[in-house]
Amino acid sequence: MTWDVVGIGASCIDHVCRMPVFPEAGTDRSKIRLTSEVRMCGGQTATALAACQSFGLRTKYVGTVGQDDDGARICGELQARGIDVADVARMPDVATATATILIDGSGDRLVLWHRDPRLVTDPARLPLDAIGSARLVHVDDVDEAAAIAAAKAARAAGAAVTCDIDHVTARTDEFLSHVSVPIFAEHLPRLLTGESETERALRTLRRRHPGLLVVTLGARGAAALDGDAFVHVPAFRVDAVDTTGAGDVFRAGFILGSLTGLPIADTLRMANAAAAAKCMRLGAMGGVPPIDAVRVLLARAH
Ligand code: ADP
Repeated sequence: MTWDVVGIGASCIDHVCRMPVFPEAGTDRSKIRLTSEVRMCGGQTATALAACQSFGLRTKYVGTVGQDDDGARICGELQARGIDVADVARMPDVATATATILIDGSGDRLVLWHRDPRLVTDPARLPLDAIGSARLVHVDDVDEAAAIAAAKAARAAGAAVTCDIDHVTARTDEFLSHVSVPIFAEHLPRLLTGESETERALRTLRRRHPGLLVVTLGARGAAALDGDAFVHVPAFRVDAVDTTGAGDVFRAGFILGSLTGLPIADTLRMANAAAAAKCMRLGAMGGVPPIDAVRVLLARAH
């Protein structure tokens, strides 16, 4: 079996807590009654793959969870969505990763995450056949050693590699050298270059990376540096109820556009539509939109 997309990286259980205002120690807001709480599957790579699968691509997830109920729930949900989980490792005596997501009345989001440091994938046990034969490999930076090893193997076999890099470490430059299309969170190009303005930061990064460089800009959409050309595509205007997982679903839309061979501006538009459709739904994986919802937005002017 060959896969359109093999993803190596994070999966977790999101504990989504909604509240009218965020708590503040030492004030009358030190205790807050939640409006609602719900536990759902999430995690960057697992959510991106759930969206790729929803958009009609054949996907495989590689990652590590605990041998607990949360780990079983993640494997069960991915499998039910049609994602291959044959190479998900179940680690005994280690809890599956969690993220507690606080959302206030204005939609602002705070994330408290927990991941046992032992919850890593041994790079020596990566499924190299699946990685080498995939059309595209997607990685995040939660388990950096495994992600770098997977990206390196994929590139050596000629597959495209996209990524979700959210923080800078001593290995970030090495990591980027093995990724064909880095897709950064907005603050990353600034952290990597010291340039506060996105276009200038991407042009500075160009000296270190020859490929397409992409950055997500929240409600302002997304931008890319394609060769020398800077392309900005605004977001779709929607009533956003939950932006959790928007970046992951954006990456899935981007992957679909790329594998379809769309030009860069159309690929960013497809990614923005996928992410906007996700923002209209609650939850990370639970909020992954069907492809028809993405098409409805794409048919709109903006
Ligand atoms: P992350 O979810 O990783 O923090 P962003 O906040 O940059 O990443 O959002 C990712 C993408 O989601 C954006 O590039 C955009 O396409 C879409 N998006 C985010 N917020 C909104 C919004 N309020 N309305 C419409 N689209 C949005």
